[in-house]
Formats: sequence, C-alpha cells, structure tokens
Amino acid sequence: MATELTGLQVYKFGGASVKDASAILNLRHIVETTAAGRPLLIVVSAMGKTTNALEELMALAYAGRDYTAPLVRLEAYHQEAAHALTAHLKPTTQTDVQEMLHEAFEALSEQLAGVGGTAGYDEQYDQVVSFGELLASQLIALVLNDLRPTRWQDCRPLLRTDTSWREGRVNWTVTENNLRTALPPLLREGGIVVTQGFVGGTTKSRTTTLGREGSDYSAAIFAYCLRAESVTIWKDVPGLLNADPKIFPDTVRYPEISYQETIEMAYYGASVIHPKTLKPLADRKIPLRVKSFLDPAAEGTLIHDCQHPPLAPAFIRKTGQCLVSLESKDFAFISEENLEVIFGALAQARLKINLMQNSALSFSVCLDGEPTRLAQAVAALGAQFRVQYNEGLTLFTVKNYTAASVTQLVAERTVLLEQRTRSTFQVVVRE
Ligand code: ASP
Ligand code: MG
Repeated sequence: MATELTGLQVYKFGGASVKDASAILNLRHIVETTAAGRPLLIVVSAMGKTTNALEELMALAYAGRDYTAPLVRLEAYHQEAAHALTAHLKPTTQTDVQEMLHEAFEALSEQLAGVGGTAGYDEQYDQVVSFGELLASQLIALVLNDLRPTRWQDCRPLLRTDTSWREGRVNWTVTENNLRTALPPLLREGGIVVTQGFVGGTTKSRTTTLGREGSDYSAAIFAYCLRAESVTIWKDVPGLLNADPKIFPDTVRYPEISYQETIEMAYYGASVIHPKTLKPLADRKIPLRVKSFLDPAAEGTLIHDCQHPPLAPAFIRKTGQCLVSLESKDFAFISEENLEVIFGALAQARLKINLMQNSALSFSVCLDGEPTRLAQAVAALGAQFRVQYNEGLTLFTVKNYTAASVTQLVAERTVLLEQRTRSTFQVVVRE
C-alpha cells in the first residue's frame, strides 16, 4: 500500500463551468487562485450540452440513420473552444490540443461507425456517450499544464464497475485499491490530476457510465477512495439554496448544513447534487463545499458532519408525477395482504414511490411517471384492483415547513393529495 497522501482537494466542474473557452479560462483562474501548491484532483463533466448531443448521435447511429451533421456540429463546437483558447496557450500546447481533438474525433467516428451488431443498445451507448468527458478532461489537462504540471488520467482502468450499462455499480474494493496505487504518486508534492466524471470501466476494459448527471458521484468516489480532505462542486448557483430560484422568488442560501439534511433533500428531488454523492462522503466525514464558479471568493455552502438550528423551509419540486389509486374490486378494505401485492408489483416494475396514502377502500401512491413501467404494474394489478391514475402532476415537498410557507404554496394550485409529518409537508398538485 502506498504511503498516505494528505491534504488532497477534489474539485468537480460540471458542464456549465467548462462550456466554452472563457469558462475554461475561468476554471484555470480558480485553480490558480484557490488551490496553489496543494495536491488537486479535478473531475470534469462534458462541455456544455455535449452529453445530450452524444445521446442524439448514438440514437441516430443505432437507427442506421445519417448522423454526419450533428457530428460535424459537435466537432465544430469543441474546435471553436480550442480556437478561442489559442491566444492563451503556449505554442506547444496549441499543437497538443489540435492533435488531441483530431484523434478523439477520429476515435468517436470509428465508434459510431461500429454501432449496431450484437451488443445491446445500453452497452454501446456507454462506449459513445463517455466521449464527452474524455474530450473535456484532456482539453482541460492541457490547458492547466501551462500553469502547473498536470496529468490527464483515464479513469476507466481505475474506477471499476459491473456491467450495469448506463448505471454502472461501483466495485469499491477494486476501485479503492486501484486509485490508491495509481494516483498518490502523481498528486504528491502539489501535482494536479484531471480525470473524468460519469465514467467507469469493467474488468474486460469496456466503458461504463454511472447515470446522467453522475459526475458529482464520481467526485465522491475519488474523494472516498483517496481519503480527500474536502470536495468542492463548482456550480452556477451561489451554493445550496432553499428552492430553485427559477421557480421561487426570494431564495436563501444555507451557509452550513448536515449530510443528513442534504441527503433527505436529494431524496425528495432537490436537483443541486446527485443523490448518490453524499453517502460516500458522509461515511468518511469528508466535507463537501458547493461554490459558485462565477464568484469563487464567496462563501458557498458547507455540507458536513454538524448540528445546526432548524433551517429555513426548503421547497423541492418534482414534476412528471403520476398519482395512482387502487381499490379492491370486491369493495373490501385495503388489507395488509393487498398492500403486499401492490408493493410487490411496483417493485417488480422498478417504480419509485414518492408518497403514499391509505384509506379504508383505496390506496394511493405518487410515482415517477414512467409510462412503460406503469403499464407493467397496472397489468399486474388490474385483475385484483380497480386502478385509476392521473399523469403530468407535480409533487412539492417542503422540509422544515412553516404555516406560512405551506399556505402560500397551496394557494394557487389544485391539490390532489396532501400529507404532513412534524417536519415535512408534501402535496401533489396539478400546475
Ligand atoms: N455529462 C454527464 C451528463 O450531462 C454527466 C454530468 O454532467 O454529471 O449527464
Ligand atoms: Mg452535466
């Protein structure tokens, strides 16, 4: 086992923070001004909306349709960023960037040309869609290398997953061992390593991905395995807010919050942090900072192992919900045996229950509106129950609610179902 690496910082930069040349130069400025001389592991997402573009390319290639135009667009987008960076790079770095882009797009074209055949869609999806992170991380490593010695690390041989394509499950023992062998020598004495979020690899060197928006989770995996001192997620918001400012006016930022509270918010659907991110960090008590890449000196939010007074109410909105109500066909009461059948069918269809309510003759559940999974559950339950459902609904959860916060929320909305505990208020509405 390699000797312990101390003081490691993990920085995660999402798509918006690397979306063009000026964003990448801002990243370089953040690294220069906030992490001088310290070992730093940088986990990056694909640039801007690249992952969506790759999904589109994959779908076209799989359907045997012409994907030339979107491929040309994607290359032009990366070339444009590289071109705008030129004046800020050393001449040798400019050449390296050009070579890297040329090779990466050749490899992507080859990959796309091979789409089809016997491997399943999801497996091939991972081979194609992972290109966004591979490209962005190589570009950023080259840009940072002008500043401080920076190594690009392909995470696929290190971050080991099973073959659950598009939702790779991490083999923690192998990953920890791999990372602790490979990375500390590169990071010691203030080195920078740049690697990919969202991506992993199998025993047989096939690429996997960890699920959309999974780069936060990657940062937590690296931090856990390398026992980092802290993780910082750089975002386009000033920290963890009590509501989405696009939907609610007068949001407030939480300066400090416990893992537990944050895990609950992510569970209820707060989209600021990928829900799988918190557990590995909480397990090793690694603090997580959420900071604005637009205002790096600002305080942001510190998520760690702490006690704090009750927080301002948090408003979490989950759209695309489906409210299903089930009644026993023989007008019998809903019994424990009925519930067993209902839960069994929902679990079988891999439907996630966000809220449930039981009355004498009916049982209601609010689920993510997944049409195929829903149809599967309805088919399984149709013989025994009368099933009715409403789609296109929204579930609001208010954590640490107050009377005023709840009144305001339900005032202008049609309420279909409401539930409250001492700390949490939930309501299913049609908006
Ligand atoms: N690029 C991936 C996505 O857009 C992963 C991430 O951004 O976290 O889903
Ligand atoms: Mg993203």
